[in-house]
Amino acid sequence: MRIITLCGSTRFKKQFREVEATLTLQGNIVQSLGFFEQSDGMIITSEQEALFERIHAKKIDMADEILVIDVGGYIGKSTAKEIAYAKQLGKTVRYYSDLSPHAAHSELGDQVREKQEIVRLNDHVLYLPASHETDRPILAAISGTSRTLIMDAGNSPAHAALFLRGLSVYDLPRTELIALTHWHWDHIFGLSQMNLPAIAHVRTKFEMEKLAEMAWSDAALDQRVEEGIEISFCAEMIKKELPGLLRNEISIVPPTLVFEDRLEIDLGQVTCILQHVGGDHAQDSIVLYVKETKTLFLGDCLAPDIYTRDWNYSPAAFLELLSKIEAFDADTYVESHSAPMPKSQFQREMNEMKQMAQAVMQNRGDKNTVHDHLTEAFNREWTQTDDELLDYFLNGYR
Ligand SMILES: [Zn+2]
Repeated sequence: MRIITLCGSTRFKKQFREVEATLTLQGNIVQSLGFFEQSDGMIITSEQEALFERIHAKKIDMADEILVIDVGGYIGKSTAKEIAYAKQLGKTVRYYSDLSPHAAHSELGDQVREKQEIVRLNDHVLYLPASHETDRPILAAISGTSRTLIMDAGNSPAHAALFLRGLSVYDLPRTELIALTHWHWDHIFGLSQMNLPAIAHVRTKFEMEKLAEMAWSDAALDQRVEEGIEISFCAEMIKKELPGLLRNEISIVPPTLVFEDRLEIDLGQVTCILQHVGGDHAQDSIVLYVKETKTLFLGDCLAPDIYTRDWNYSPAAFLELLSKIEAFDADTYVESHSAPMPKSQFQREMNEMKQMAQAVMQNRGDKNTVHDHLTEAFNREWTQTDDELLDYFLNGYR
């Protein structure tokens, strides 16, 4: 008979009970939590909390394995400590979310997520690919010989926890800092989970302080969409990524360190350059360049302005932004919501965008003339994406 200790937040009483019953019927000795403070609305003193932690540590000592009740991928700080403790003791660690693809999500919006796994980009960079289901951007870890820097904090505590859990199997130097590419929700909502100082542009901090004042209930989101402060795409994605109880997890922590133009971070034989570039998508956008591997993380800086009725690019501003990006002699380009690109592909795509911006300016926003000019210049079939991009430039020119 195996002894299994359950670990996780006291808010998941229902799942603890279900798992306890299932594992007991399978012939295991199950050690659960003595009470469910958060589910039952109990208030305990700090002495009782410390006692609760000591008792649970003892239950981990006695166990053959621990099972982490990570509903919706959520792992709180004390649970993270328990996992580290169990690993230190050489115990097997299993996760509720791995038991069945439905188990972890059935209570929380029926989302069945595609499996997201860490990918190695090169000797110094690991990343978690983007997921379009709930608009999760790429998260990256850049490591030198002495420390690791994380780029972006993810769109929820669960997203951040998934990334940190994925990184924990690699033997990386200590993670000391998070760099934020810009203030949009999908890049910062996981910051509280990361529990590390963040570094960002001064304007990112300004915008995050505004977000910290906001409410995130369905009603509050719907009202902001109506008022034109929030866009419906983001509101829908927030509801999907953080359904039900998980919405209460939103806690916006402003960055600890800010800069205005440029900053270098020494990770030990690996240097990261953070450079403010701005652009239509977000005025605070920065790019992150890893000098030694020639990797340029672009965040969303090349995306259009989406916080308006007609998505748009200002052609002049776009050209200025491109010249700032071209100043980096990168070999690999990483945009937050797509796959990393080699230089040749990036240059080809940017060259066409550049021609588009120039043609809109030269032809004073006359769509037909611009279209004829571009179909000839591109010398390939005109696609629907081309048409959308051209409309963004035309919207921004008017
Ligand atoms: Zn964005």
